[in-house]
Amino acid sequence: MNTSVKQEILAKIKEYDRILIFRHKRVDGDCVGASKGLKELLKASFPEKDVRIIDDERSDYLAFLGPDDEAVPDDFYASALAIVVDVADTERISNQKFSLCKEIVKIDHHIDRTPYGVISWVEEGRSAACEMIADFYATFQDELTLTQWGATCIYTGMVTDSGRFMYEGVSGDSMRLAGLILDKGVKTDWLYANLYLKTFESLKFTAYVYEHMKVTENGVCWLLVDKAMQQKFGLNMESASAAISSLSGIRGCLCWIAFIETGDEEHAIRVRLRSRFAAINHIAEKYHGGGHACASGATVYSVREMHDLLRDADTYIKEYKENNEGWL
Ligand code: AMP
Repeated sequence: MNTSVKQEILAKIKEYDRILIFRHKRVDGDCVGASKGLKELLKASFPEKDVRIIDDERSDYLAFLGPDDEAVPDDFYASALAIVVDVADTERISNQKFSLCKEIVKIDHHIDRTPYGVISWVEEGRSAACEMIADFYATFQDELTLTQWGATCIYTGMVTDSGRFMYEGVSGDSMRLAGLILDKGVKTDWLYANLYLKTFESLKFTAYVYEHMKVTENGVCWLLVDKAMQQKFGLNMESASAAISSLSGIRGCLCWIAFIETGDEEHAIRVRLRSRFAAINHIAEKYHGGGHACASGATVYSVREMHDLLRDADTYIKEYKENNEGWL
């Protein structure tokens, strides 16, 4: 499947002495795992190449995957190949200096609304961009070297973006590739401890979310994490955004949405939408966002617009329940 595009990417990598890897804003386990895993794969396979990750965002949650690379001077870009992982459209690339690079390669698993790059390898059915990096390694494993650390980064993205291999995109291929990567010596107990252990304070916030979350008439569970709440629990954007995971798993609530007040001058409220069975990305797209069928992001600019979005989501879930069977 898609071997020729992978061959083109490998040939392009071989052409360049300098490779700069880019990822998306609001980093997550998949884009961090894919960028760090790809960097480690390329460094181990082609030690003479200069390979770096270009990003300005830091994540406390993902700090266990090691420090990020230092910023580079502007004259670094012109001779470089940019590989952009896990980003559907160029606006969402976290560092816009990708445009200074000589050529761009896209590797992604989101819905391909705005193709870009001299080579574009997009497979929407993949459970994670890291699954694609694993597949790239699997295809050329006679030529490439994957270290234990590279495998750990890739495996982290595979388990986080697939909901621990729970979501619909998980295929037999996902599991076969996960097996190949695991065999490189990934320490799963260490990885899961990093992913699951909570601080005392964050559990208090989770308890507060359970106490205060709301449910619309037709089963959309939601919460606005406003600035007052963020101050009360000492939250930053990343820890406030984690509220989304506490809203999932309620029988009959097919959609759950966390609104995170940013406090910026545009009064932007970050929206994290999740669903089971019913695709909700069209709602995200209506409100300045996008993403996957059942996991998308958007932005609203007032509490009134937040309620508009909630009304749309509630109407859609009502229709979905009326027209479909077998949902839970
Ligand atoms: P998040 O809630 O930020 O974890 O986003 C869920 C999924 O939607 C991820 O795959 C994101 O890359 C994607 N996504 C989030 N925000 C946006 C946006 N504004 N536009 C397009 N895709 C987005």
